[in-house]
Amino acid sequence: MPLFQNAAFFTTVNHLRDLPDTRAEVAFVGRSNAGKSSAINTLANRTRLAYVSKTPGRTQHINFFDLGHERFLVDLPGYGYAEVPEAVRAHWVELLGRYLGERSSLIGLLLIMDARHPLKDLDRRMLDYFTPTGRPVHILLSKADKLSRQEQATTLRKVKAELAQYGDTVSVQLFSSLKKQGMDTVEQVVQTWFDA
Ligand code: GDP
Repeated sequence: MPLFQNAAFFTTVNHLRDLPDTRAEVAFVGRSNAGKSSAINTLANRTRLAYVSKTPGRTQHINFFDLGHERFLVDLPGYGYAEVPEAVRAHWVELLGRYLGERSSLIGLLLIMDARHPLKDLDRRMLDYFTPTGRPVHILLSKADKLSRQEQATTLRKVKAELAQYGDTVSVQLFSSLKKQGMDTVEQVVQTWFDA
């Protein structure tokens, strides 16, 4: 049974003090509208496990999904949505910053970036903030179906070149929820993290 296909909703948290005790978890993060909810739903083979929102940036909570065997998938709130009120943004920075920096059971990060707009400023800040902790980041260049085969290859090559500075800590692949492209690779990468 593929890793993500057992995923079952576990809990929602709004404050760090409410985080559940877990042995190991991987977290999904990305700009609002990058395709994070769709990616989670596709990987879990469910239509509405993670809520695919029409008003990005509204949800500020952290959702936990149980993968079995004491392993968890964590859905972090999206960032970069312009219409978010300052108080909400401040809460986000506090919640996310401390979660990413202090969560000891977090073993790796899945960073979702729209393949048409990769490595935006906030994505780079996310990488710069997280990679010094030494834990791996795997990037999904999402909505790859919106690019031609040629454009996909070019984008992948360019992004890889830009990520060279991070060494082996950061890896990247193409992904499409619509076409179910790249699912096996994600599974393999995350399985390796859990098995380490
Ligand atoms: P989130 O805000 O990062 O959770 O993004 P969503 O998963 O809600 O997706 C944002 C928008 O992109 C929605 O309109 C999705 O239907 C669309 N989308 C997500 N994944 C794909 C994909 O693989 N291909 C295409 N063509 N559209 C996608």
